[in-house]
Amino acid sequence: MTKNSAPATEISRMTTLNETHDPRLSSWVPTANDGQTDFPIQNLPFAVFRRRGSTEPFRGGVAIGDQVIDMAALARAGVLEGLAQQAVQAASADKLNALMAMGSAAWQALRLALSRALRTGAAQQAAVQPCLVAQSDVEYDVPARIGDYTDFYTSVHHATNVGRLFRPDNPLLPNYKWVPIGYHGRSSSIVISGQQFRRPVGQTLPPGATQPSFGPCKRLDIELELGVFVGQGNALGEPIDIANAEQHVFGICLLNDWSARDIQAWEYQPLGPFLSKSFASTISPWLVTMEALAPYRVPFSHPPEDPQPLPYLDSPGNRAAGGLDIQLSADLLTPRMRQNGLAAHRLCLTNYRHAYWTVAQMVAHHTVNGCNLNPGDMFGSGTLSGPSADSAAALLELTVGGKHPVQLPDGEQRVFLEDGDTVTLRGWCQREGAARIGFGECVGTVLPARA
Ligand code: CA
Repeated sequence: MTKNSAPATEISRMTTLNETHDPRLSSWVPTANDGQTDFPIQNLPFAVFRRRGSTEPFRGGVAIGDQVIDMAALARAGVLEGLAQQAVQAASADKLNALMAMGSAAWQALRLALSRALRTGAAQQAAVQPCLVAQSDVEYDVPARIGDYTDFYTSVHHATNVGRLFRPDNPLLPNYKWVPIGYHGRSSSIVISGQQFRRPVGQTLPPGATQPSFGPCKRLDIELELGVFVGQGNALGEPIDIANAEQHVFGICLLNDWSARDIQAWEYQPLGPFLSKSFASTISPWLVTMEALAPYRVPFSHPPEDPQPLPYLDSPGNRAAGGLDIQLSADLLTPRMRQNGLAAHRLCLTNYRHAYWTVAQMVAHHTVNGCNLNPGDMFGSGTLSGPSADSAAALLELTVGGKHPVQLPDGEQRVFLEDGDTVTLRGWCQREGAARIGFGECVGTVLPARA
């Protein structure tokens, strides 16, 4: 199929609103209806969970208000039918890969069935009620077996800000506006929100030194990103056309791709980052589906003076609605602030709509050489810095390479992260005429380096 043969269906699939998006819908779960929750009935994101501290098996769950619907219990209850029942059975496993592999028709059937069963007045309320578990009583795991993790670099503002620190005269490399830049990351060290991790140690080249030293990282940073989970994959050798690209995407979470800037600066040439990125990447538990994000599609374009995407990175649907209006924030809480009962300090506020390459372009580019994606693979969007100084999504940028420390409300300063610091990412979508939906939280705390 050529990309021009199906623009109408492509656009409609990516943007069509259906009864599940109706902002007037309410749920018989009261906390889903307060207008503040990340998880109204219009969202219905997926995670894997179990009761906290138990030895129960992890299984799929869907968020509604302050509750989780247990997919395994719902499958046993037998209240759903047909493809939706097959999908809820797949979602009962300890990872969501089987559900992801079923494809978008199954995801849509399950979403519609859940939406109908959770609505105020639903006949299934009595049968579904026993399948609810309070979110305050559960713990989460990484929602998929992530076979491969690819880290993109889709914010031109991040690329320019970082490039300026290293190459003041030539901040943006000439390939940036033509190629969605990425590298193969490490999936084994992707951890779930709430998990602590040790400050990495490694080789660095101190300023002015001619030989490296070895020790704890001194420039530990955040990267505020989104994690994009692949649903159905593609066969090796068979690229995914951009017109169908989003059919292969299951959903999106928050991602803090912690980075050791001093280790990175010494190791990254000529093959790119290595140990500076592979010690921990924290993701939020909830995967917000592409269908749930439909009300928040925005047009996508490169500035007219920039190179326009090559044909394999371009489609009518991508131009009409390839972008996503997702607001994102990062907050910092130091040990002293925690001790003094202070609220976390907002480091930045940004938006995914500023990205230079879309989800569909990442999929199309990744597979154009025939590379195969598998269900549960994850892409990082890259650090999602926006155009303004307060929308820079990493400390490296916020402090201009460490020159301007972040001032905290209790008089403390931060250039990079110190031991005991906690960073919380949040994401949400909000606009007139649609229900506000959110991503929950992505929380990580830095522990001291191993002695
Ligand atoms: Ca990254």
